[in-house]
Amino acid sequence: MKDVNYLRISLIDRCNFRCQYCMPGDEEMAWLDRDVLLTRAEIVSLVRDVFMPLGFNRFRLTGGEPLLRQDAIAIVSDLSRLDGLVDLALTTNAFILADKARALYDAGLRRINISLDSLNADTFRQITGRDLWHNVWAGIQAAYDVGFDPLKLNVVVIPGVNDREVEALAALSIDRAWHVRFIEFMPIGNSTLFSDKGWIDSADLRQRIRAKYGLESASVRGSGPADIFRIPQAKGTLGFISQMSDCFCDNCNRIRLSADGWLRPCLLNESGQIDLKASLRKGYPPDRLRERVRQLLSEKAEIHFKDRDRGTRDRYSRTMSQIGG
Ligand code: SAM
Ligand code: SF4
Repeated sequence: MKDVNYLRISLIDRCNFRCQYCMPGDEEMAWLDRDVLLTRAEIVSLVRDVFMPLGFNRFRLTGGEPLLRQDAIAIVSDLSRLDGLVDLALTTNAFILADKARALYDAGLRRINISLDSLNADTFRQITGRDLWHNVWAGIQAAYDVGFDPLKLNVVVIPGVNDREVEALAALSIDRAWHVRFIEFMPIGNSTLFSDKGWIDSADLRQRIRAKYGLESASVRGSGPADIFRIPQAKGTLGFISQMSDCFCDNCNRIRLSADGWLRPCLLNESGQIDLKASLRKGYPPDRLRERVRQLLSEKAEIHFKDRDRGTRDRYSRTMSQIGG
């Protein structure tokens, strides 16, 4: 197994979108109370005093929608200044990014991933439950103008919903250094509307794109488990994240910290998680917290996708937005 050096930090479980692949539809979500969220100081202290001394140097802020947190920019600013930090990135739905892109960049953020599942405002509304395609598009333009590099666009491909747009979405990488990543849809905590949709193998998507534009191998910074290609002469790249067709658990280098301070060793398996916030609030010193994390890391390989073959989505008691996808 790879060394684990990458932590995804959920800043907040709340989201203003209702993406059908991520949440159980428009029903009321039970959000965490504000006082159980890790505070800015707690996040910074965990990163600086617990994770970095254990060799973690790559961090991603996610959610829920991380920009809904009032102190998101302050957290970026604190983290980006830490000695030894190699990489800090953020994943956002971009609905308020047009207003915040400059401040995030000035706070030290250089890498951003934006969810964009459709170029069609109606399909976008069908997927996200919100009529906000134009806000998101403006957010993407603002992030590009400010200079985020790499700027990645995440597309979850849902059969019969947005799969016909794959070639058009891939074409976004041609004229601008936009890195489009196609993600196989995972059946975790999603809406019943999407539960029978299934998923499309990345290999099939690649074949379609290759037939239209050609494809060559490429690379991009922070590509994680994605297989990277480029349309010949394109400025950006295409990534394919194939966790359904090609399990990459053996190469997993990441763990996740939920907004309420639970550390999860595996996206698809709830065993082994530990409550770091409780330990922190009891006043445990950093070396004791590090010991708990070290223990969890030693069990991570065993925990990986343990339930994958016999599992169903009903086993996942949290949605992607709650886990911090
Ligand atoms: N709200 C932010 C956003 O949408 O970019 C950040 C959180 S969201 C949970 C992070 C990523 O998880 C998004 O890029 C989304 O596409 C992906 N995601 C959510 N549910 C998924 C699912 N069921 N299968 C695959 N990817 C999923
Ligand atoms: Fe919200 Fe992101 Fe989940 Fe969509 S994918 S519901 S924007 S957390």
